[in-house]
Amino acid sequence: MSERLKILYAASECAPFAKTGGLGDVVAALPKALLAREHEVRVMLPLYAGMDWDSQELLEGSLEVPMGYGKEYAGVRLGKLPHSRVPVYFIEHRGFFDRAGIYGDEAGGFGDNIERYAFFSRAVMRLCAALGWIPDVLHANDWQTGLCPVFGNTMEKEHFLGTASVLTIHNLAHQGRTGRDDFGLLGLFPSYWDPDVFEHDDDLNLLKAGLRHATMISTVSPTYAQEIQSPELGRGLDYVLRERRADVWGILNGIDTEVWNPALDPNLPANYDVGDLSGKAVCKREVQRELGLPEREDAPLLALIARLDPQKGVDVVGDALPRLLDLDLQFAVLGTGDPEIEAWFGRVARERPDRFAARIAFDARLAHRLEAASDFFLMPSRFEPCGLNQMYSLAYGSLPIVRSTGGLVDTVQNYVEATAEGTGFRFEALTPQAIFDVVGWAVSTWYDRPEHYRILQRRAMEQDHSWDHSAGLYEQLYREALRRRRA
Ligand code: ADP
Repeated sequence: MSERLKILYAASECAPFAKTGGLGDVVAALPKALLAREHEVRVMLPLYAGMDWDSQELLEGSLEVPMGYGKEYAGVRLGKLPHSRVPVYFIEHRGFFDRAGIYGDEAGGFGDNIERYAFFSRAVMRLCAALGWIPDVLHANDWQTGLCPVFGNTMEKEHFLGTASVLTIHNLAHQGRTGRDDFGLLGLFPSYWDPDVFEHDDDLNLLKAGLRHATMISTVSPTYAQEIQSPELGRGLDYVLRERRADVWGILNGIDTEVWNPALDPNLPANYDVGDLSGKAVCKREVQRELGLPEREDAPLLALIARLDPQKGVDVVGDALPRLLDLDLQFAVLGTGDPEIEAWFGRVARERPDRFAARIAFDARLAHRLEAASDFFLMPSRFEPCGLNQMYSLAYGSLPIVRSTGGLVDTVQNYVEATAEGTGFRFEALTPQAIFDVVGWAVSTWYDRPEHYRILQRRAMEQDHSWDHSAGLYEQLYREALRRRRA
């Protein structure tokens, strides 16, 4: 029998309580999957405004949290992840977390985010000690909890000497940077100041400190784990990650196969699976009607669902659009974001209603329906730590057309005509020409080699991107971290 681990997840987001992106989904799904593998798991999260705090049990007493300038006090509430037995401890502090927004409001990011998350990270450590529950593995996420591994090796080491830490990078763009003088806020003894640990580009950098101190480091796909060690995608911290290259793992995020499953999806006009695709044809017809596109079975429908942000390469899609619409296809875009890109897509939709539809909205139901209706799914990201949409597309039998970057490389195998291998189509350079070429190649496969299209589609739908698989890899990571910590 392998050892049952006590695992703590410390994070600034956890769906459905608080979510701005992939981090929130991971912290919701991974603890459940580890619990299913018989580990003892707990989650700690700030109690933000708007949460249903009343239905969480208020624990007795208050938690004393040392800060650089004195003490703060936190309340603690206890709830559970929905539909599970995973305990969630909510750290309550009116001043820091009872605000209109998680990281900021309309006026921008909160000016005291460093202080807020230094407080939260220290509160996590203090709460473990107060509960007498010291984890074997402390899993911290992004810069907001980057100080947890630091505290575990410094101010809190008497409790956490035997605790291994893992720091996962979900988004390297945010690093928790501030002026060097803010070191004094963190609640670390001045003797712990070390520019090699805390400083980057003359700034205090909490992600860097976490990367220096964590027993192991991970990110959300194997390819992105390599890419962030390069100057192109390393956001200035590539040297730190290179120095620790032996400790950096890439583990793909999973998808929620109860929510994204064409056989069960309640959003669809008809359900289907790999054995019987007749329902997919119904979905295509319905969505064409819904979007005002001609109801054509004989033309491929290409979909794009994304934040309309340069990260997603949608500006280049905009440049490629007029030529793309010369191909005999239909193209439907669902997204919101950059106003210029929104306006351009809207204009083309008015000019070419026979071929192009744009829904400038956030519409989860339509996202499901479009995955089901489409034959191809375009994802030309500039960079992509993991990406979820391409995995949904595979599951829904909409072949992904992706740029070769990050998690897209790890989840989509390129079509090889000679052998009918692959699950989709990949391209390298992010240019209008390259997008035109790869979409043209995909569309010609659909028209000229329909038997190949079917083979790829079947293979795509049979891929396993469930959390269970990834949870097994995290378990290996935790055991490795613990082995090193105890060595
Ligand atoms: P990222 O997290 O970088 O935005 P992902 O592909 O990992 O990209 O996940 C995006 C998620 O957001 C997917 O679930 C996708 O369906 C959803 N999404 C993005 N834009 C929209 C939209 N306009 N309407 C509905 N869902 C959207």
